[in-house]
Amino acid sequence: MGEFELIRNYFAAAPCAQAGEGVALGIGDDCALLAVPAGEQLAISTDTLVAGVHFADPCDPFLLGQRSLAVAVSDLAAMGATPLAFTLALTLPMDSADWLQAFARGLNAMAQSCGVRLVGGDTTRGPLSLTMTVLGRVPTGLALTRSGAQPGDLLCVGGELGNAAGALPLVLGQRTAEPAIAEPLLAHYWSPQPQLALGQALRGKATSALDISDGLLADCGHIATASAVGLLIESEKLPLSKALRAFLGQNAARVAALSGGDDYVLAFTLPPAELPQLLADGWPVHVVGRVVAGQGVTLLAADGQDITPATRGYQHFRETP
Ligand code: ADP
Ligand code: MG
Repeated sequence: MGEFELIRNYFAAAPCAQAGEGVALGIGDDCALLAVPAGEQLAISTDTLVAGVHFADPCDPFLLGQRSLAVAVSDLAAMGATPLAFTLALTLPMDSADWLQAFARGLNAMAQSCGVRLVGGDTTRGPLSLTMTVLGRVPTGLALTRSGAQPGDLLCVGGELGNAAGALPLVLGQRTAEPAIAEPLLAHYWSPQPQLALGQALRGKATSALDISDGLLADCGHIATASAVGLLIESEKLPLSKALRAFLGQNAARVAALSGGDDYVLAFTLPPAELPQLLADGWPVHVVGRVVAGQGVTLLAADGQDITPATRGYQHFRETP
């Protein structure tokens, strides 16, 4: 199968690649053309996933397609953006029709559930890796950045933490668990749901936000630095799923929530006055701490003792000591 036949069959033909709102010209020309309404800004983010680093190799191509797009779209959720389009740069060691078909189906399923259209990409041969660039739109001035947290704000998360990190030993085949435990954990790992609606609901309310990809402690560090504030996290308040607690026990579940990766749940800071209405509207908002004057992230035990661990989360390149 040639490069162009591959693009045509598996990507240009996918339902998510058809022209629609906001996409004036899709796959097939030198560039795609997008329409951004007046009064809105374009939000752009790129993510690369490398086989053996970001996902097990081999793995199920349907799940990979689904997950890689979800991970990329999660950055749009974190900015409060509405998804518009994405591009896919795909490097493949082979051109297996079965693999491509399943991958494209997974990609399409997530694209349709997020309302985002495939508008272009690049296809090359080499060790398996995927780069996705996602584009979204957000009313000018209302994007949720990392830099607006204020002392006095609450620190909140948009759902249970640690499930994907808990699933990792299952994904890697190192452990097994009964379906009641394995299924919800694996679902979080393979098809994280970008919190798009929550991100949009937080526009004009949250003072800062991001999506948790490297663990709550590490990612909150980014808010603390960008906003020049301190963040206190109360370890007793972390929302942990029943499945995670049953699988790992309470203590290891807490470590997974704090330092495990791949949650793709939003973390955000919120003036306390905004909380009651968000809860009344049914948004999944869990208060896990607060913003204070100072710097860095501090983890507190129930008795107020500082129990901040030394290591925080995954980094590809560590600073040399
Ligand atoms: P160019 O050589 O001009 O960069 P290509 O020949 O690489 O263009 O690609 C042809 C068209 O197919 C372009 O519109 C490009 O965006 C699109 N495309 C290539 N690979 C993919 C892919 N994996 N998924 C979606 N679109 C793709
Ligand atoms: Mg090309």
